[in-house]
Amino acid sequence: MAHEILIPKQWTKQEFLKAHEAGGKKRGRAAGGWIADLAAQKKVITLCPLCTNKFNPARVNYRKEKDYPVCSATCDGCSAWDTRCTMYVYAPIYSQVRMTREEQRAWQRSRDERIRRGNLNTP
Ligand SMILES: [Zn+2]
Repeated sequence: MAHEILIPKQWTKQEFLKAHEAGGKKRGRAAGGWIADLAAQKKVITLCPLCTNKFNPARVNYRKEKDYPVCSATCDGCSAWDTRCTMYVYAPIYSQVRMTREEQRAWQRSRDERIRRGNLNTP
């Protein structure tokens, strides 16, 4: 009878986060398919300056992060580490968790207008 011995691992925060990175595509796997998989899981996609031109974020309902124009990451297209990667976020998640600067300004204008009319609570 086979026995399985479980040894609890003491994770540091860095190790834990590293284990949750997508880790780049497997060797021999076409980049397009790998990125489509990430998009299907609604994960954040990071692409280097060369690979970013081959990706159409609108086609998979993704948004380009524009407030932070670059990020340091492993490119999901060619698996190279690059400090000038572009970050793409699944659009419905993006609009749930944050606003772009233009959206913040529009929100503030609408709020100011409601205060001027004397009723903050009606949109
Ligand atoms: Zn790349």
